[in-house]
Amino acid sequence: MLDEDRVRADTPGVGAGLVFLDSAGSSLPPRIVTDTVIAHLRRESEIGGYRAANERLADLDAVKTAIGELINAFPAAIALSDNATRSWADFFYSVPLRPGDRILISGTDYASNAIAALQRAKATGAVVEQIPNDSSGQIDLDALSAMVDERVKLVSLLHVPTNGGLVNPAAEATRIAHSVGALVLLDACQSMGQLAIDVAELGVDALSATGRKWLRGPRGTGFLYVRPELVESMEPERLDLHSAQWTAPDEYRLAPDARRFEFWEFDVAARLGLGAAVRYLLDLGPENVYAAVAARAAHLRKALPEIPGVTVRDLGLRQSGTVSFTVDGMAAVEVRDRLAEQDITVTVSFASSTLLDMNRRGIDSLVRASPHAFVSFAELDRFVAAVAGLRHE
Ligand SMILES: *Cc1c(COP(=O)(O)O)cnc(C)c1O
Repeated sequence: MLDEDRVRADTPGVGAGLVFLDSAGSSLPPRIVTDTVIAHLRRESEIGGYRAANERLADLDAVKTAIGELINAFPAAIALSDNATRSWADFFYSVPLRPGDRILISGTDYASNAIAALQRAKATGAVVEQIPNDSSGQIDLDALSAMVDERVKLVSLLHVPTNGGLVNPAAEATRIAHSVGALVLLDACQSMGQLAIDVAELGVDALSATGRKWLRGPRGTGFLYVRPELVESMEPERLDLHSAQWTAPDEYRLAPDARRFEFWEFDVAARLGLGAAVRYLLDLGPENVYAAVAARAAHLRKALPEIPGVTVRDLGLRQSGTVSFTVDGMAAVEVRDRLAEQDITVTVSFASSTLLDMNRRGIDSLVRASPHAFVSFAELDRFVAAVAGLRHE
């Protein structure tokens, strides 16, 4: 069981009448994260960035150890970066492609992934194709089985979309992709920190995630996991003196592990903050946190549809912590802004972020409520009452 009082007490942003429902966007960090970041910035101002970093070498190493513990990977399989999109692209752009090769993207894929796929297709002569969704809205595994062949070089799987609650069957889809030798890159931005993720069980070749969402880390943090057996055969598109070593005037040697996907310079304070966030989650017991998130989302999925004119838009057989909805006769941005006036934070997901899915459903924008474990049920009920009140004002 999660110690909910502790979680709330550890979060400076809760209380004071604010209802915070945007952990799918940028969550409220626990105090230890903010304190870690600020303390390091202060230390840098006192003794300079290099000495300050040298004092924290063990803690910096511990960042990958903690992430590895969370996702069941060796620290050497992890490359830290400044956001999930960069991590995703670092891997994606390193996969060799030739004319006629096929890239498959998910029906709920994220705009940045799709844009990168389209750009690479233009540059290499590869083609981008969409994996159909089944009637529940998740990846259609039968359709995926039917469409794969040995020309498929990379499958972009979206674990949890940015615009709703569905959870794609990533492990099953990965097995299908592997049956024809395709690589699988999983976008775990919206699942990391709210769902159990075991990279060995999923079997994916690579996975990207961000720090600021459900992990509750600082902004400007993200990471890439690359399957250790694969990393040796991958040459990142861009290198520096950290990802590779200049061994002779006309020679360089790549770092032996996922470090080849990192650059030397980074925001040390933010990285230490990410480590603190992951360690905090591990200390709480990830399963406890995941259960608390699921209970809050379930509460909203039950209460919101009882309000006349409110439609919950989540698809999928299995659902996660993001609850998406629309209010009849009211634009999503208006719902967001009216709730903000009552100190309730939700966000809007626009069609341009998940174009394939939103176009298919004929939706241009959705309200997204994503309650983390630090949100109380009383706060959820205040939010539900506020939504109910919107149409009567
Ligand atoms: C937020 C998000 C991203 C991008 O993460 P950044 O850290 O902003 O680069 C990618 N995919 C999905 C599904 C997201 O929700």
